[in-house]
Amino acid sequence: MIDFRSDTVTKPTKAMLDAMFTAEVGDDVFTEDPTVNELESFAADMFGMEAALYCSSGTQTNQVAINVHVQPGGEIITNVESHIYKYEGGGIAKNTGASVRLIHGNRGRLTLNDVQQWINPDDVHYPVTQLVSLEDTSNRGGGAIYDFEEIKRIGAFCRENNLPLHLDGARLMNAMVENGVDIKEYAAEFDSISLCLSKGLGAPVGSVLIGKKDFIKKSRRVRKVFGGGMRQAGIIAAGGLYALKNNVERLKEDHKHARALETALLDLNWVKDVVPVDTNIVVALLHDESKRDTLINKMAEKQVKVMAFGPGMIRFVTHLDISELQIDETIEVIRSI
Ligand SMILES: *Cc1c(COP(=O)(O)O)cnc(C)c1O
Repeated sequence: MIDFRSDTVTKPTKAMLDAMFTAEVGDDVFTEDPTVNELESFAADMFGMEAALYCSSGTQTNQVAINVHVQPGGEIITNVESHIYKYEGGGIAKNTGASVRLIHGNRGRLTLNDVQQWINPDDVHYPVTQLVSLEDTSNRGGGAIYDFEEIKRIGAFCRENNLPLHLDGARLMNAMVENGVDIKEYAAEFDSISLCLSKGLGAPVGSVLIGKKDFIKKSRRVRKVFGGGMRQAGIIAAGGLYALKNNVERLKEDHKHARALETALLDLNWVKDVVPVDTNIVVALLHDESKRDTLINKMAEKQVKVMAFGPGMIRFVTHLDISELQIDETIEVIRSI
């Protein structure tokens, strides 16, 4: 099987497993796990930020961050396609009791104009806007990358208005290997960043939440309340640390593979269009919406697994368990169906 359903399906390599098996561990709820501590300081240093917190998933890092930044009844400005709104089980409402201002369009991204327009005035009728949340790359936007100039404009506006700025950077490293921006300069625009280790970076478990010391101290408390305090977590954190140290630059290969798929798909008579490929996500728009599931099944019969991504849409995600040879095989399969 060539599995394009998600970049979460990767399995740890021998080298990563060795790092996990030999990891030094301790009780992380007592902050005594040396490997978790190393991962947290490595991630914080890499981003030029003060501190980090290892969590079990990207949903957990996002939900913890939202809970620390936002009071019940407060409002979050985000895109309607964002993971924090669409794919976290209603967690914004359930965990924090917050309101959302949902912005449409622009492949899942916000603009300065959106934020300026929808920050609420100081008037008792309105919820108090308490957070702006961006997603880079945007999953629903087909792996779209932010223009850093726009992020800087949004960051400056948020600082002027004492509004924290959160980044759902589940696939941030996919953006960073393409955008040419210095990672510390990029991170300085945000109050908190969530980074998934278990997507393109290839670790089996976990995400890190990165921010200021005081923010991470509060986040550690919320993580415990959410049931996310883990004990000898160094075993899994070692996989994350290995991923951060070894698997960033190679993301460019996944992007090359994605562009090869894009080119091949654009040539097929059943494909109407492909969302322009920025990173490792390829979204094909079909001529005939009703054929979507038939096409997915035909590919599966030929060992190519892909995912439905909404009406008339099929998503392919490239990752480190898909080789160049398998991309060639996949192109043969999609041409043959
Ligand atoms: C995968 C993902 C997450 C986190 O998902 P988990 O499965 O909880 O780790 C968050 N945001 C985006 C954009 C994602 O794609």
